[in-house]
Amino acid sequence: MTDASSTPDRALVPRSDRHQVVVIGSGFGGLFGTKALKGADVDVTMIAKTSHHLFQPLLYQVATGILSEGEIAPPTREVLARQKNAQVLLGEVTGIDLEARTVTSHVLGRELTTPYDSLIVAAGAGQSYFGNDQFAEFAPGMKSIDDALELRGRIFGAFEMAELGASRGENVDHLLTFVVVGAGPTGVEMAGQIAELAHRTLTRDFRAISSHHARVLLVDAAPQVLPPFGARLGTWTKKKLEDLGVEVMLGALVSDVDERGLVVKHKDGREERIDAVTKVWAAGVQASPLGKQLSEQTGAPLDRAGRIAVNPDLTLPGYPEVFVVGDMISLDNLPGVAQVAIQGAKYAAKEIDGRLHGKAPQRPFKYFDKGSMAIVSRFRAVAVVGKLRLTGFIAWLMWLAVHLFYITGFKSRVTAVLHWLVSFLGRGRSERTATEQQIFARIALKRLDRGASDLVSAPGEYDAEAERVRREELERQALEEVRLTDEQARGVKSTPVGSSV
Ligand SMILES: Cc1cc2nc3c(=O)[nH]c(=O)nc-3n(C[C@H](O)[C@H](O)[C@H](O)COP(=O)(O)OP(=O)(O)OC[C@H]3O[C@@H](n4cnc5c(N)ncnc54)[C@H](O)[C@@H]3O)c2cc1C
Repeated sequence: MTDASSTPDRALVPRSDRHQVVVIGSGFGGLFGTKALKGADVDVTMIAKTSHHLFQPLLYQVATGILSEGEIAPPTREVLARQKNAQVLLGEVTGIDLEARTVTSHVLGRELTTPYDSLIVAAGAGQSYFGNDQFAEFAPGMKSIDDALELRGRIFGAFEMAELGASRGENVDHLLTFVVVGAGPTGVEMAGQIAELAHRTLTRDFRAISSHHARVLLVDAAPQVLPPFGARLGTWTKKKLEDLGVEVMLGALVSDVDERGLVVKHKDGREERIDAVTKVWAAGVQASPLGKQLSEQTGAPLDRAGRIAVNPDLTLPGYPEVFVVGDMISLDNLPGVAQVAIQGAKYAAKEIDGRLHGKAPQRPFKYFDKGSMAIVSRFRAVAVVGKLRLTGFIAWLMWLAVHLFYITGFKSRVTAVLHWLVSFLGRGRSERTATEQQIFARIALKRLDRGASDLVSAPGEYDAEAERVRREELERQALEEVRLTDEQARGVKSTPVGSSV
């Protein structure tokens, strides 16, 4: 098998001599930017490392068995099927060459170089463990479908292991303790849902344990929950979480994480160990490493979260043909939310189209804040819309309407509503299935030198002799199956070996 780095450099052949736009990422920025170019006289090539568009705000519902992954992650190819000027390519972008105007991407050892005339970079952000990446193995983040499915497996698996342990008379407190690190919207939503699972959904399912006894902790070094929602909504949310049975531990910095638990350091210097097999990391984001590459080539500075400073029109200094949008940018303290990415990407698309028509540049990008919301439990949410501060059922209804509107695809909307009915009106969860692969596959892949690339043949490596032998074997097997059926020979006793006739 050849090394990925030695595979020949293959270049994409442009589909026409029209203006070529490359979009990196199929998230909110990438998808909405590509869609906004639908009517433009350009070819758009979207390159993303997953073949789906991910609606991250509902990841926690996949992790806790409310929604299926398909409902929040439709195939990008299907979403864009009718947009004739757009093509979708799977690949992780590893290099952007601003001088040569090319993007290099890889998937399973295959390399592709894609030239562009205009580029929209919307590669988003990943989880940050604040320099402690070793925590990731024991405390998965909440950024991808893999994360959510792994967490689903870990959460429901912990209850299973507790039932087994309790049946053998063992202490299972560490299995029934769940810690969510980070009291931002994702952490709050996750802690609220685990508490609902333990105290409402699973109460009738076990015999040796009482899921009621599960401890759910929400830990954060900050002095309040949901800081971006202001002091009043933060206090309201903390109270509602506590009513649900969540222990909110503020001013507590996580200093170590291992397989069986974690250590927190309180403000007064006290260290506390919490035994908990299931940990969820919902603290901190780090912008895509592509930002660093762009910074090195342009001199544009990065902030502490790795976000790149862009011009007011979202372009890079000295490279007006390159736009960066969404979670990757640092501009006017804009928050890392979906609307910043969507509006930024639409702005970039409009600018590209306008330039082709000789239009004057637009005014600098201006973000229109449509508000933000977080769900605490069923029927309870908080929302900030302009000066309005909403709590409780009204905020929850708003949450419902907004999320239904933004889920991509009619099919997904219909099934999401059905699943919400099951979980919010009933006490069930439609998506509790968890497999061993969900929990262990990522760790197993990490043990291979080149991850999944080690499991496939290198491009061009083809064993014709192996194919001939396999084909003969399959043909022989198929002929034998046909003979057995046609001669009604199945179930007919054969002569025992060694018997004399
Ligand atoms: C759990 C969670 C909950 C959230 N809840 C909310 C919410 O309620 N409301 C809200 O407004 N915002 C919320 N956000 C934030 C919101 O999802 C982001 O701000 C938004 O997704 C940013 O859009 P983006 O296009 O910049 O990045 P993303 O949507 O993250 O998209 C990045 C894309 O780039 C691809 N990519 C990354 N690196 C590469 C590479 N090297 N090569 C190729 N492709 C690459 C990824 O696969 C992905 O397709 C939440 C985020 C998370 C994680």
